[in-house]
Amino acid sequence: MSNNNSSKSTTAQFEQDLIKTGMQPITLRQAEIGRGTQIKRALPSRQKRMIGAWCFLDHAGPVDFTAGEGLDVGPHPHIGLQTFTWMIKGSMMHRDSLGYAQLIQPKQVNLMTAGRGISHTEVAPVTETQMHSVQLWIALPDDKKDMQPQFDHYPKLPILQHDQVEYTVLVGEFLGEKSPVQVHSELLGVDLVAQAQVKTLLPLNPNFEYALLVLEGELRVGEHQLNNEHMLVVNTGLQQLELEMSAGTHAILIGGVPFESPVILWWNFVGRTQEEIEQAREQWLQGDARFGEVADYQGERLAAPPLPDRMRASK
Ligand code: MN
Repeated sequence: MSNNNSSKSTTAQFEQDLIKTGMQPITLRQAEIGRGTQIKRALPSRQKRMIGAWCFLDHAGPVDFTAGEGLDVGPHPHIGLQTFTWMIKGSMMHRDSLGYAQLIQPKQVNLMTAGRGISHTEVAPVTETQMHSVQLWIALPDDKKDMQPQFDHYPKLPILQHDQVEYTVLVGEFLGEKSPVQVHSELLGVDLVAQAQVKTLLPLNPNFEYALLVLEGELRVGEHQLNNEHMLVVNTGLQQLELEMSAGTHAILIGGVPFESPVILWWNFVGRTQEEIEQAREQWLQGDARFGEVADYQGERLAAPPLPDRMRASK
């Protein structure tokens, strides 16, 4: 049966509803990374491409596995973004073309700034048997997108207690605590763990748009009951968010000023034009020095997929 709604794209309807109600849930999709590791992908989604400069969000685990069968992502390139890895359980070895080799452990962040180009591997140690992590990408603004690549490891983030919720400030500033993680846009990232059944009020910056992603457990915001299948998108203009969390519920809140330039997100690249993406793909395929070499990896570099006919920049 056809009606007015079905003739609109899902995205347009989502945007209308978001403006009308201030918040709308998105259902995550399943995807596969590395060698058959299943993850839930929250960003980009058809309804919402970015939250501020946050342009990609994968939730991996929690999962237990046999030692030696953990995540193994071979050498692959990035441009125009920062990869932000938040480890919750388990560990992972990062190696990149700048020569960094860094094990990331629970409650730590790895931040890799690709800028004009870098390549890396992500491999679970052979003795590892569990994984729970979130990987986000941050689009670099126009004046930083071609910056020199860089890698930073943050072993300790600020933690604070408020309303029986443990907050870890991953990026930006929250409840007076400031993260040391260096980003290039106005952004927020906060990890929340409810230590009891709680009701809490999150202060928001009205200039920011936000998304709340449940990692484990359940929470309620207004009429929206959410679990780890959902991400709640929150429009700009709100001062606060009232949250009811069941005991043990674990979530992350991300936010930022809506990103200024439309971007193309293709494979592991963030660019502004199709030409820029095509050139990076070609240079990766040719083994160009732009992406360097990652040492100590047994196996093949990841092959870039074929390009679609036409790519359009969007926010
Ligand atoms: Mn990567």
